[in-house]
Amino acid sequence: MNREKLLEGKAIAGRINRMVKDEVLKLKKTYSFEPVLCAVQIGDDKESSLYLDFQQKMAQKLAIGYQVRKLSADTGIAGIIAVIEELNRDSSINGIILQLPLPRHLNANDIRCRIDPIKDVEGVHPENLGKIILNEKGLAPCTACAVMELLNTLNIDLYGKEAVIVGYSEIVGKPLAAMMLNAFCTTTICHIATSGRGLLAAHVKRAEILVVAVGKPGVIKGEWIKKDAIVVDVGINYVDEKIIGDVEFEKAYERAAYITPVPGGVGPITVALLMRNLLYAAKQQKQEDKL
Ligand code: NAP
Repeated sequence: MNREKLLEGKAIAGRINRMVKDEVLKLKKTYSFEPVLCAVQIGDDKESSLYLDFQQKMAQKLAIGYQVRKLSADTGIAGIIAVIEELNRDSSINGIILQLPLPRHLNANDIRCRIDPIKDVEGVHPENLGKIILNEKGLAPCTACAVMELLNTLNIDLYGKEAVIVGYSEIVGKPLAAMMLNAFCTTTICHIATSGRGLLAAHVKRAEILVVAVGKPGVIKGEWIKKDAIVVDVGINYVDEKIIGDVEFEKAYERAAYITPVPGGVGPITVALLMRNLLYAAKQQKQEDKL
């Protein structure tokens, strides 16, 4: 396979990681201050624990402090909010992330909206999501930002481009749609009802930029891809012990101008941007402390 069309995330993530590490080391040298990220895990989901290990390694690599607050799966909402409020008050913690998935009795948004927006490094608090609509700088959801970073590296003019996003979650599809509107793409979001009415193929076929964030392997058929489209596959699916995306890769590769591999596309940039958000959050908090 000719790798020319591959839109890989590793080099972009490497560049962001280097910038973050340099800035973190400067903060340490100048102010003897170490930014610290705290992950809150409720229950002990296996995949979530693997992701925690990965986060911890990344934090170590970038000289960032890392803590995990583990709560039992049967913790009630009041107990969880008490922990979040304690972390909000703790000036040694600069960023808080809520590990997913949550036990069934809990709703992520009930917890996310209790995180102090200035420590919301996942960019999922309503105040931070609202800033995207207003096109203001702030902590924005890392995966949606990762897609924009990938597109920016292509140096293409987004103005008036037909962008189609498949999936409308609060952390990917919806904030990304607002970001693409801010970049003047003509933006369509497809969701479960689009598929339900049998209209998904028609929308995908006219996409000059296609972003898919669904979590269903093969939901996008390769033959639907418009010739020379840019395809960003956010999906992560575990099939036969392999990780694959949502787009039928081989056929899509033939038609696309650029396409992200899975793994190795959006994923590495998402983690790098989480750490960049932590750095921004820590700097903002220190500015408020007049440090
Ligand atoms: P999510 O919250 O489950 O959202 C998936 C979206 O797809 C929902 O809006 C869902 O609608 C919609 N959908 C489901 N079936 C559909 C269909 N047949 N046609 C059109 N839309 C459909 O998931 P997410 O958190 O956004 O993540 C999506 C995927 O991206 C997952 O595979 C996840 O693992 C991956 N992900 C990757 C990264 C990364 O860094 N690479 C980061 C985050 C997520 P309903 O809710 O109405 O069913």
